[in-house]
Amino acid sequence: MIRQGEKLFGEYDWERFDLLVLPPSFPYGGMENPRMVFLTPSVIKGDASGGQVVAHELAHSWTGNLITNINNEHFWLNEGFTTYAERRIVEVVQGADIATLNMGIGWRGLKDEMERFKDNLECTKLKNNQQGVDPDDVYSQVPYEKGFQFVLRIERQVGRTAFDEFLKKYIATFKFKSIDTDTFLDFLKANIPGIEKEINLELWTESVGIPEDAYEPVSTIYTKIISLAEEFKQGKMPSEDEVAEWKGQEWELYLLENLPKSCEPSQVMALDKRYRLAESKDYEVKVSFSATRNLIQVQRVPWRSGENSKNRGKDEVPSSTLQRSCTIWWNRREAAGETGVCRSTRDLPPHSSGSSRVYPL
Ligand SMILES: [Zn+2]
Repeated sequence: MIRQGEKLFGEYDWERFDLLVLPPSFPYGGMENPRMVFLTPSVIKGDASGGQVVAHELAHSWTGNLITNINNEHFWLNEGFTTYAERRIVEVVQGADIATLNMGIGWRGLKDEMERFKDNLECTKLKNNQQGVDPDDVYSQVPYEKGFQFVLRIERQVGRTAFDEFLKKYIATFKFKSIDTDTFLDFLKANIPGIEKEINLELWTESVGIPEDAYEPVSTIYTKIISLAEEFKQGKMPSEDEVAEWKGQEWELYLLENLPKSCEPSQVMALDKRYRLAESKDYEVKVSFSATRNLIQVQRVPWRSGENSKNRGKDEVPSSTLQRSCTIWWNRREAAGETGVCRSTRDLPPHSSGSSRVYPL
Protein backbone atom coordinates (compact mmCIF):
# COMPACT_ATOMS: atom_id res chain seq x y z
CA MET A 1 0.00 0.00 0.00
CA ILE A 2 2.79 2.42 0.88
CA ARG A 3 4.48 1.63 -2.43
CA GLN A 4 1.27 2.39 -4.30
CA GLY A 5 0.83 5.60 -2.32
CA GLU A 6 4.35 6.63 -3.27
CA LYS A 7 3.65 5.87 -6.92
CA LEU A 8 0.65 8.15 -6.77
CA PHE A 9 1.87 10.99 -4.62
CA GLY A 10 5.64 10.76 -4.32
CA GLU A 11 7.89 9.67 -1.50
CA TYR A 12 6.42 8.84 1.92
CA ASP A 13 7.73 11.68 4.07
CA TRP A 14 7.05 10.49 7.61
CA GLU A 15 9.78 7.81 8.06
CA ARG A 16 7.57 5.30 9.94
CA PHE A 17 4.03 4.10 9.38
CA ASP A 18 2.51 2.29 12.34
CA LEU A 19 -1.03 1.09 12.97
CA LEU A 20 -2.39 1.09 16.51
CA VAL A 21 -5.54 -0.99 17.01
CA LEU A 22 -7.64 0.61 19.74
CA PRO A 23 -10.28 -0.95 22.03
CA PRO A 24 -13.74 -1.71 20.54
CA SER A 25 -15.23 1.49 21.94
CA PHE A 26 -13.05 3.63 19.64
CA PRO A 27 -15.88 5.37 17.78
CA TYR A 28 -14.28 5.78 14.35
CA GLY A 29 -13.04 3.58 11.55
CA GLY A 30 -9.62 5.16 11.76
CA MET A 31 -7.74 8.36 12.56
CA GLU A 32 -4.85 9.54 10.47
CA ASN A 33 -2.27 10.71 13.00
CA PRO A 34 1.05 11.23 11.21
CA ARG A 35 3.30 8.15 11.68
CA MET A 36 0.72 6.31 13.82
CA VAL A 37 -2.76 5.63 12.51
CA PHE A 38 -5.46 4.61 15.00
CA LEU A 39 -7.81 1.85 13.89
CA THR A 40 -11.01 0.27 15.11
CA PRO A 41 -10.51 -3.46 15.81
CA SER A 42 -13.51 -4.17 13.56
CA VAL A 43 -11.31 -3.80 10.47
CA ILE A 44 -9.45 -6.98 11.44
CA LYS A 45 -11.57 -9.77 10.03
CA GLY A 46 -9.19 -12.54 9.12
CA ASP A 47 -9.18 -11.51 5.48
CA ALA A 48 -8.12 -8.37 3.64
CA SER A 49 -11.57 -6.85 3.38
CA GLY A 50 -10.89 -4.22 6.04
CA GLY A 51 -7.91 -2.94 4.05
CA GLN A 52 -9.87 -0.06 2.59
CA VAL A 53 -9.74 1.77 5.94
CA VAL A 54 -5.97 1.33 6.13
CA ALA A 55 -5.66 2.58 2.53
CA HIS A 56 -7.67 5.66 3.46
CA GLU A 57 -5.65 6.52 6.55
CA LEU A 58 -2.39 5.88 4.74
CA ALA A 59 -3.46 8.19 1.90
CA HIS A 60 -3.86 10.95 4.48
CA SER A 61 -0.08 10.82 4.90
CA TRP A 62 -0.05 12.91 1.73
CA THR A 63 -3.46 14.57 1.56
CA GLY A 64 -4.48 15.87 4.95
CA ASN A 65 -1.24 15.46 6.87
CA LEU A 66 1.22 16.76 4.27
CA ILE A 67 -1.19 19.23 2.64
CA THR A 68 -3.97 20.41 4.95
CA ASN A 69 -7.09 22.44 4.34
CA ILE A 70 -6.75 25.93 5.73
CA ASN A 71 -10.01 25.57 7.65
CA ASN A 72 -13.07 23.33 7.83
CA GLU A 73 -14.81 25.14 4.95
CA HIS A 74 -12.28 23.52 2.63
CA PHE A 75 -12.37 20.08 4.28
CA TRP A 76 -12.99 18.44 0.89
CA LEU A 77 -9.34 19.11 0.00
CA ASN A 78 -8.39 16.61 2.70
CA GLU A 79 -11.13 14.05 2.30
CA GLY A 80 -11.96 14.20 -1.41
CA PHE A 81 -8.34 13.62 -2.43
CA THR A 82 -7.89 11.00 0.27
CA THR A 83 -10.98 9.09 -0.84
CA TYR A 84 -9.69 9.22 -4.41
CA ALA A 85 -6.24 7.95 -3.35
CA GLU A 86 -7.81 5.27 -1.12
CA ARG A 87 -9.68 3.85 -4.13
CA ARG A 88 -6.59 3.98 -6.34
CA ILE A 89 -4.72 1.95 -3.69
CA VAL A 90 -7.65 -0.48 -3.28
CA GLU A 91 -7.75 -0.90 -7.06
CA VAL A 92 -4.18 -2.19 -6.98
CA VAL A 93 -4.29 -4.34 -3.84
CA GLN A 94 -7.90 -5.64 -3.93
CA GLY A 95 -8.85 -5.25 -7.59
CA ALA A 96 -10.82 -2.85 -9.75
CA ASP A 97 -14.18 -4.45 -8.98
CA ILE A 98 -13.79 -3.88 -5.23
CA ALA A 99 -12.64 -0.30 -5.82
CA THR A 100 -15.77 0.26 -7.90
CA LEU A 101 -17.92 -1.40 -5.25
CA ASN A 102 -16.56 1.13 -2.75
CA MET A 103 -17.29 3.92 -5.22
CA GLY A 104 -20.83 2.58 -5.47
CA ILE A 105 -21.31 2.60 -1.69
CA GLY A 106 -19.96 6.16 -1.70
CA TRP A 107 -22.29 7.18 -4.53
CA ARG A 108 -25.32 5.85 -2.64
CA GLY A 109 -24.11 7.65 0.50
CA LEU A 110 -23.73 10.92 -1.41
CA LYS A 111 -27.27 10.69 -2.73
CA ASP A 112 -28.53 10.04 0.80
CA GLU A 113 -26.73 13.18 1.97
CA MET A 114 -28.47 15.25 -0.72
CA GLU A 115 -31.77 14.07 0.72
CA ARG A 116 -30.61 14.74 4.28
CA PHE A 117 -29.58 18.30 3.43
CA LYS A 118 -32.48 19.20 1.16
CA ASP A 119 -33.45 21.98 3.57
CA ASN A 120 -29.86 23.07 4.18
CA LEU A 121 -28.33 23.13 0.72
CA GLU A 122 -25.24 25.03 1.84
CA CYS A 123 -24.01 21.70 3.24
CA THR A 124 -24.07 20.15 -0.23
CA LYS A 125 -21.38 22.54 -1.51
CA LEU A 126 -17.75 21.47 -1.51
CA LYS A 127 -16.63 24.90 -0.36
CA ASN A 128 -19.22 26.03 2.15
CA ASN A 129 -19.83 28.74 4.69
CA GLN A 130 -19.50 27.43 8.25
CA GLN A 131 -19.61 30.78 10.01
CA GLY A 132 -21.36 30.21 13.35
CA VAL A 133 -21.95 26.53 12.58
CA ASP A 134 -20.99 23.64 14.83
CA PRO A 135 -18.87 21.43 12.52
CA ASP A 136 -20.41 18.32 14.12
CA ASP A 137 -23.86 19.42 12.95
CA VAL A 138 -22.81 19.54 9.31
CA TYR A 139 -20.33 16.68 9.17
CA SER A 140 -21.25 14.47 6.24
CA GLN A 141 -20.03 12.39 3.33
CA VAL A 142 -20.23 15.41 1.00
CA PRO A 143 -16.55 16.45 1.32
CA TYR A 144 -15.56 12.78 0.91
CA GLU A 145 -17.79 11.66 -1.91
CA LYS A 146 -18.53 14.86 -3.82
CA GLY A 147 -14.85 15.72 -3.35
CA PHE A 148 -13.95 12.29 -4.73
CA GLN A 149 -16.28 12.84 -7.69
CA PHE A 150 -14.64 16.20 -8.46
CA VAL A 151 -11.13 14.74 -8.35
CA LEU A 152 -12.31 11.82 -10.52
CA ARG A 153 -13.93 14.27 -12.96
CA ILE A 154 -10.57 15.97 -13.48
CA GLU A 155 -8.87 12.58 -13.93
CA ARG A 156 -11.48 11.54 -16.50
CA GLN A 157 -10.96 14.80 -18.37
CA VAL A 158 -7.18 14.73 -18.64
CA GLY A 159 -6.51 10.97 -18.49
CA ARG A 160 -4.80 9.02 -15.77
CA THR A 161 -1.21 9.50 -16.85
CA ALA A 162 -1.47 13.28 -17.01
CA PHE A 163 -3.50 13.39 -13.81
CA ASP A 164 -0.94 11.31 -11.89
CA GLU A 165 1.77 13.75 -12.96
CA PHE A 166 -0.38 16.63 -11.82
CA LEU A 167 -1.01 14.99 -8.42
CA LYS A 168 2.69 14.53 -7.75
CA LYS A 169 3.39 18.14 -8.64
CA TYR A 170 0.50 19.33 -6.48
CA ILE A 171 1.83 17.47 -3.43
CA ALA A 172 5.41 18.57 -4.02
CA THR A 173 4.34 22.20 -4.39
CA PHE A 174 2.14 22.49 -1.30
CA LYS A 175 3.57 19.97 1.16
CA PHE A 176 3.66 21.15 4.77
CA LYS A 177 1.30 23.98 3.83
CA SER A 178 -2.36 24.72 4.54
CA ILE A 179 -4.34 25.75 1.50
CA ASP A 180 -7.86 26.72 0.45
CA THR A 181 -10.02 25.80 -2.54
CA ASP A 182 -9.02 28.84 -4.62
CA THR A 183 -5.33 28.04 -4.19
CA PHE A 184 -6.01 24.55 -5.52
CA LEU A 185 -8.09 25.86 -8.45
CA ASP A 186 -5.42 28.43 -9.40
CA PHE A 187 -2.81 25.66 -9.37
CA LEU A 188 -5.07 23.41 -11.43
CA LYS A 189 -5.69 26.08 -14.08
CA ALA A 190 -2.01 26.97 -14.24
CA ASN A 191 -0.93 23.35 -14.71
CA ILE A 192 -3.74 22.05 -16.90
CA PRO A 193 -4.36 25.01 -19.22
CA GLY A 194 -7.92 25.28 -20.48
CA ILE A 195 -9.37 22.92 -17.84
CA GLU A 196 -11.90 25.58 -16.86
CA LYS A 197 -13.34 25.41 -20.38
CA GLU A 198 -13.87 21.65 -20.07
CA ILE A 199 -15.11 21.42 -16.48
CA ASN A 200 -17.31 23.97 -14.75
CA LEU A 201 -15.00 24.39 -11.75
CA GLU A 202 -17.23 26.94 -10.04
CA LEU A 203 -20.24 24.67 -10.36
CA TRP A 204 -18.31 21.81 -8.76
CA THR A 205 -16.84 23.77 -5.88
CA GLU A 206 -19.42 26.45 -5.10
CA SER A 207 -22.80 25.09 -6.17
CA VAL A 208 -25.28 22.84 -4.40
CA GLY A 209 -26.18 19.27 -5.30
CA ILE A 210 -24.44 16.73 -7.51
CA PRO A 211 -23.30 18.08 -10.92
CA GLU A 212 -24.66 16.25 -13.94
CA ASP A 213 -21.20 15.23 -15.12
CA ALA A 214 -20.58 13.21 -11.91
CA TYR A 215 -19.94 9.53 -12.49
CA GLU A 216 -22.23 6.78 -11.27
CA PRO A 217 -19.94 3.76 -10.99
CA VAL A 218 -20.52 0.64 -13.01
CA SER A 219 -19.02 -2.74 -12.19
CA THR A 220 -20.05 -6.36 -12.23
CA ILE A 221 -20.37 -6.68 -8.46
CA TYR A 222 -22.03 -3.31 -7.91
CA THR A 223 -24.62 -3.82 -10.63
CA LYS A 224 -25.35 -7.37 -9.50
CA ILE A 225 -25.91 -6.35 -5.88
CA ILE A 226 -28.24 -3.52 -6.86
CA SER A 227 -30.29 -5.87 -9.04
CA LEU A 228 -30.43 -8.55 -6.31
CA ALA A 229 -31.63 -5.94 -3.84
CA GLU A 230 -34.36 -4.94 -6.28
CA GLU A 231 -35.38 -8.61 -6.55
CA PHE A 232 -35.48 -8.91 -2.76
CA LYS A 233 -38.01 -6.08 -2.66
CA GLN A 234 -40.16 -8.22 -4.96
CA GLY A 235 -39.85 -11.09 -2.47
CA LYS A 236 -36.94 -13.08 -3.94
CA MET A 237 -34.29 -14.36 -1.52
CA PRO A 238 -30.73 -14.38 -2.90
CA SER A 239 -29.34 -17.87 -3.46
CA GLU A 240 -26.33 -19.34 -1.64
CA ASP A 241 -24.32 -19.12 -4.84
CA GLU A 242 -25.14 -15.47 -5.32
CA VAL A 243 -23.88 -14.43 -1.89
CA ALA A 244 -21.05 -16.97 -1.57
CA GLU A 245 -18.28 -14.41 -2.08
CA TRP A 246 -19.89 -11.56 -0.19
CA LYS A 247 -18.05 -9.86 2.63
CA GLY A 248 -18.86 -6.79 4.68
CA GLN A 249 -18.98 -4.24 1.90
CA GLU A 250 -21.19 -6.36 -0.35
CA TRP A 251 -23.69 -7.02 2.45
CA GLU A 252 -23.56 -3.39 3.48
CA LEU A 253 -24.54 -2.20 0.02
CA TYR A 254 -27.23 -4.86 -0.26
CA LEU A 255 -28.79 -4.29 3.14
CA LEU A 256 -28.43 -0.68 3.99
CA GLU A 257 -28.69 1.08 0.71
CA ASN A 258 -31.57 -0.85 -0.77
CA LEU A 259 -33.59 -2.85 1.67
CA PRO A 260 -34.84 -0.69 4.51
CA LYS A 261 -37.02 1.55 2.42
CA SER A 262 -39.55 -1.00 1.30
CA CYS A 263 -39.22 -4.34 3.10
CA GLU A 264 -41.32 -6.07 5.69
CA PRO A 265 -39.66 -7.09 8.98
CA SER A 266 -40.60 -10.74 8.35
CA GLN A 267 -38.73 -10.69 5.04
CA VAL A 268 -35.58 -9.31 6.68
CA MET A 269 -35.80 -11.82 9.52
CA ALA A 270 -36.10 -14.64 6.97
CA LEU A 271 -32.93 -13.38 5.33
CA ASP A 272 -31.18 -13.56 8.70
CA LYS A 273 -32.52 -17.04 9.36
CA ARG A 274 -30.98 -18.23 6.14
CA TYR A 275 -27.66 -16.41 6.25
CA ARG A 276 -27.15 -15.85 10.01
CA LEU A 277 -26.20 -12.22 9.46
CA ALA A 278 -26.74 -11.14 13.08
CA GLU A 279 -24.16 -13.72 14.18
CA SER A 280 -21.59 -12.88 11.52
CA LYS A 281 -17.98 -12.68 12.66
CA ASP A 282 -17.52 -9.88 10.13
CA TYR A 283 -18.45 -6.79 12.05
CA GLU A 284 -19.54 -4.85 8.97
CA VAL A 285 -22.04 -7.59 8.14
CA LYS A 286 -23.29 -7.80 11.73
CA VAL A 287 -23.64 -4.03 12.07
CA SER A 288 -25.24 -3.57 8.64
CA PHE A 289 -27.81 -6.23 9.43
CA SER A 290 -28.55 -4.95 12.95
CA ALA A 291 -29.02 -1.43 11.66
CA THR A 292 -31.37 -2.63 8.92
CA ARG A 293 -33.38 -4.77 11.33
CA ASN A 294 -33.67 -1.95 13.84
CA LEU A 295 -34.62 0.59 11.20
CA ILE A 296 -37.45 -1.58 10.04
CA GLN A 297 -38.68 -2.62 13.46
CA VAL A 298 -38.23 0.64 15.32
CA GLN A 299 -39.98 3.60 13.84
CA ARG A 300 -39.14 5.90 16.71
CA VAL A 301 -36.33 5.77 19.21
CA PRO A 302 -36.21 7.78 22.43
CA TRP A 303 -34.24 10.81 21.49
CA ARG A 304 -33.54 14.02 23.27
CA SER A 305 -31.69 16.56 21.26
CA GLY A 306 -30.51 18.68 24.16
CA GLU A 307 -26.98 18.70 22.77
CA ASN A 308 -28.03 19.67 19.28
CA SER A 309 -27.49 23.39 18.92
CA LYS A 310 -30.38 23.79 16.48
CA ASN A 311 -32.98 22.01 18.62
CA ARG A 312 -31.75 22.58 22.10
CA GLY A 313 -34.18 21.31 24.67
CA LYS A 314 -36.66 19.78 22.27
CA ASP A 315 -37.50 16.16 21.66
CA GLU A 316 -37.27 15.01 18.13
CA VAL A 317 -37.41 11.90 16.06
CA PRO A 318 -34.03 11.58 14.40
CA SER A 319 -33.67 11.42 10.67
CA SER A 320 -33.10 7.95 9.30
CA THR A 321 -29.37 8.53 8.93
CA LEU A 322 -29.03 9.73 12.50
CA GLN A 323 -31.21 6.92 13.73
CA ARG A 324 -29.03 4.50 11.82
CA SER A 325 -25.88 6.00 13.32
CA CYS A 326 -27.44 5.74 16.74
CA THR A 327 -28.07 2.06 16.13
CA ILE A 328 -24.54 1.47 14.96
CA TRP A 329 -23.10 3.24 17.95
CA TRP A 330 -25.43 1.40 20.26
CA ASN A 331 -24.39 -1.95 18.83
CA ARG A 332 -20.74 -1.08 19.11
CA ARG A 333 -21.15 -0.06 22.71
CA GLU A 334 -22.96 -3.29 23.40
CA ALA A 335 -20.15 -5.22 21.74
CA ALA A 336 -17.66 -3.35 23.89
CA GLY A 337 -19.56 -4.39 27.03
CA GLU A 338 -20.74 -0.85 27.69
CA THR A 339 -24.22 0.04 28.83
CA GLY A 340 -26.29 3.17 28.79
CA VAL A 341 -29.08 4.83 26.93
CA CYS A 342 -28.72 6.65 23.66
CA ARG A 343 -30.26 9.95 24.70
CA SER A 344 -28.54 12.66 22.77
CA THR A 345 -26.01 13.50 20.15
CA ARG A 346 -23.46 13.34 22.94
CA ASP A 347 -24.07 9.59 23.04
CA LEU A 348 -23.07 9.34 19.40
CA PRO A 349 -19.56 9.54 18.10
CA PRO A 350 -19.21 13.16 17.02
CA HIS A 351 -18.67 12.29 13.39
CA SER A 352 -21.17 9.50 13.02
CA SER A 353 -24.18 11.20 11.63
CA GLY A 354 -23.34 10.91 7.96
CA SER A 355 -23.73 7.24 7.46
CA SER A 356 -24.02 3.86 9.01
CA ARG A 357 -20.71 2.76 7.72
CA VAL A 358 -17.63 2.36 9.86
CA TYR A 359 -16.25 5.37 8.08
CA PRO A 360 -12.62 6.21 8.19
CA LEU A 361 -12.00 9.84 9.02
ZN1 LIG B 1 -10.21 10.80 5.91
